[in-house]
Amino acid sequence: METTAWTQLQSVMNAEQDRRPFARATLRRIGTFARPHKRRIVYFVLLSIVTAMLAVATPLLAGSVVDTIVSDGDSSLVVRYALLIAAIAVAEAGFGLLSRWLSANLGEGLILDLRTAVFDHVQRMPVAFFTRTRTGALVSRLNNDVIGAQRAFSNTLSGVVGNVVMLLLTLAMMLRLSWEITLLALVLLPVFIVPARRMGSRMAKLQREAAHHNAAMGTRMTERFSAPGATLIKLFGRPGAESEEFATRARRVRDIGVRTAMAQSTFITALTLVSALALALVYGLGGYFALSGTLETGAVVSLAMLLTRLYAPLTSLAGARVEVMSALVSFERVFEVLDLKPLIDEKPDATKVPDGPVAVEFDDVRFGYPSADKVSLASLEEVASLDTRGGDEVLHGLSFRAEPGQTVALVGSSGAGKSTIAQLLPRLYDTDGGAVRIGGVDVRDLSAASMRRTLGMVTQDGHLFHESVRANLLLARPEATEDNLWDVLRRARLEDLVRSLPDGLDTVVGERGYRLSGGERQRMTIARLLLAQQRVVILDEATAHLDNTSEAAVQEALAEALEGRTAIVIAHRLSTVRSADQILVVEAGRIVERGTHEELLAVEGRYAELYRTQFAGKAGKGEETVDVEKAEKAETAGVAA
Ligand code: ADP
Repeated sequence: METTAWTQLQSVMNAEQDRRPFARATLRRIGTFARPHKRRIVYFVLLSIVTAMLAVATPLLAGSVVDTIVSDGDSSLVVRYALLIAAIAVAEAGFGLLSRWLSANLGEGLILDLRTAVFDHVQRMPVAFFTRTRTGALVSRLNNDVIGAQRAFSNTLSGVVGNVVMLLLTLAMMLRLSWEITLLALVLLPVFIVPARRMGSRMAKLQREAAHHNAAMGTRMTERFSAPGATLIKLFGRPGAESEEFATRARRVRDIGVRTAMAQSTFITALTLVSALALALVYGLGGYFALSGTLETGAVVSLAMLLTRLYAPLTSLAGARVEVMSALVSFERVFEVLDLKPLIDEKPDATKVPDGPVAVEFDDVRFGYPSADKVSLASLEEVASLDTRGGDEVLHGLSFRAEPGQTVALVGSSGAGKSTIAQLLPRLYDTDGGAVRIGGVDVRDLSAASMRRTLGMVTQDGHLFHESVRANLLLARPEATEDNLWDVLRRARLEDLVRSLPDGLDTVVGERGYRLSGGERQRMTIARLLLAQQRVVILDEATAHLDNTSEAAVQEALAEALEGRTAIVIAHRLSTVRSADQILVVEAGRIVERGTHEELLAVEGRYAELYRTQFAGKAGKGEETVDVEKAEKAETAGVAA
């Protein structure tokens, strides 16, 4: 276990090594996101210029005050200067707030765009992406990185733009007052700029690593601290090793945090020190010049004040570099997700399924699961590089047709390809050869909306969101009325149950909500299906034994759901197989036999064998599970499921 932690750490470092510092493309992309906010940016820059001008004005006025005093001038002039300085201070405060408002709006607005873009994009990713990606890593991408980008962006936008303007103006003024003193004060600058640049990119690398570890820890926690994950660790896990691996990452994050903090404060301390030294220089040299008559006394004061305003923007610019770097890291990580092309996307001219009952057709379908590099991101799977091997072909030229209203049952050993067939129909994956058609239309030509309206799926586990019963049902048809909901609940044999729930339709169900039993969950999916009124149904029959009442209720609800619909059923029950219009026996990605129950029995082939080994003795009951799958899984795994 320790070695895994070590290799993971190493792979991170290796991955870091071959990354170029920052692509110009990233900056250009940020530009694209900033474009809609052009007007605000212009206002902001104008405001920065005005603020900088005001900031330079005060030292000059102070100089004039001193000159007036030295030359025994008019006292009312001094008062006027003082009032002007006060007015400028008030204006500076007001403009400061205004420009912060603008920059905050810009930063937050940009992040809003970015965040919604990522969410939209991820939603469009194919299921394959979600089966590979670790949810924690993805959520961290949406949260931490987007927030990182935001913080750095709104902080540095004001910092960088405002400070650059301030720096230039201050320098110009100082040069005008005394170029000798200004140049001497500036000699000290390269001492900072050079290490600042170097440190900036080193920090960026460390930040990237820290972000990676943070995401990894997040993922680990979401995985291990979910109820099933925690159970598994209790039963089989090595909590010591788990903690050690977690601690390795956490320690690394701590080290990076300490180094970053130290690097930053070293900068600031050094800059403060140098600005103090430069100030001594201005007073010493300026005083000398003033005494020898080559410089006005007021100019010495102005120079000293300007100098403090020169180093302040310099300090924050040096800090800004580090912040800009970490902002770019966050942007990069977000763009990486945005750049992932959805493997399956709606065509621009997508059509819809023709009205009325529809047939489903598989025409010489060949399919292999896509390789990891096509559907995912190494950084989201937390591996150094993705597997580029293409998956082996799973379906080898498969053809069948379910006529409108027919039920086709799929039977066969585990791993034969039944679920794969079921997943190709709603286009969770695209075929590699041949075509899948609904109502005569290739599924690749269908719009996602039409597909959703036409095709429903009832899975074994019937996933429910952690929301109310109502919300879970309305997913299928948002405009459904209260009566509609009760109607489908009744037909799905769930009415009594939902009425007995503490908050009725508004009871929260799902992972952490009210726990529905397996049979109830499945009936909930059936209710959803009845509500959506889809014309084609894919049904994965439960392999698990349900208690008798539940079983009967599911069967009744299913009969109701399948009525008049074209259905593809991954069958585990004799009753389903018997009543199917057509049975397809799938083995190793091919249909080896097809026909009705009686026809296939007469052939004395694979189906007859399945029937004898799995159905024998259960035939009379009609409700028993054909436990082919379970038996085989138990065989291969050597454990009872
Ligand atoms: P069945 O439903 O008949 O038990 P499946 O369709 O689940 O069989 O599996 C068919 C084959 O495809 C198996 O060899 C399985 O290992 C493989 N397979 C299933 N899902 C994936 C996946 N997401 N990625 C790669 N291979 C898969």
